[in-house]
Amino acid sequence: MRTPIAAANWKMNFGPRQAEQFIAAIREPLGAVSGAEVVLFPPFISLDSAYRAIQGTAIGLGAQNLSEHPGGAFTGETSAIMVAELCRWVIAGHSERRQYYGETDELVRQKTLAALSADLSPIVCVGERLEDREANLAERVITTQIRGSLGGLPAEAIGRVVVAYEPVWAIGTGRAATRQDAEDIAQLIRALVGEQYGQGIADALRILYGGSVTAANVTEFVASPHLDGALVGTASLRPEFVDIARAIAAAKTA
Ligand code: PEP
Repeated sequence: MRTPIAAANWKMNFGPRQAEQFIAAIREPLGAVSGAEVVLFPPFISLDSAYRAIQGTAIGLGAQNLSEHPGGAFTGETSAIMVAELCRWVIAGHSERRQYYGETDELVRQKTLAALSADLSPIVCVGERLEDREANLAERVITTQIRGSLGGLPAEAIGRVVVAYEPVWAIGTGRAATRQDAEDIAQLIRALVGEQYGQGIADALRILYGGSVTAANVTEFVASPHLDGALVGTASLRPEFVDIARAIAAAKTA
């Protein structure tokens, strides 16, 4: 059985003090969620205060990005090994990084490799743009992204990789994908990973949906046997995230 995941991508919100206050307000009910891994992804500057605030709970912590380099003269960057001092998780290839910072599949692959070499669990994001979907190119785009971002990873570490399907047009728009669309792409992703790494790895792979997930629609997605949780942006900045995490756990333990 694949343990479901409720992941909170705070993006560029909540500085150290706000992070501490927000976690203080939700740590009891969020920490009490059982049957799902709950992971917060604060901005880098807030990781330390979040790390302190979650002590004594089962809430996990991750960074929103990492450098592909192991260390050295890369001003403003953070290596996987540094992230691993506070976190077990990291996001690689979020569409905002692909879109605004020019991250390519090859760069995402290098970041994924760096994460795995530091014993982190990377959540690798893929997703098509609106024009791709409208041109019926969604499957082709996802195929290219999966092959490019997940190629040549060490077989013994691939089990730590999680994939998030996040259609770009659904992120922060209030327009979530349909369950059918998300399921179709999740099945495609699993098949592609199966081609690269074998059926056993593919069957164990956790695939999340992300894009305008709320407490009102999350169950629709996670009731699907093909989806193992959600990567949540906007709604993760509100106490509503507790309800989302509960709904994810409930759907998979029902
Ligand atoms: C995200 O940033 O990963 C995301 C899914 O955002 P939102 O939930 O706001 O669509």
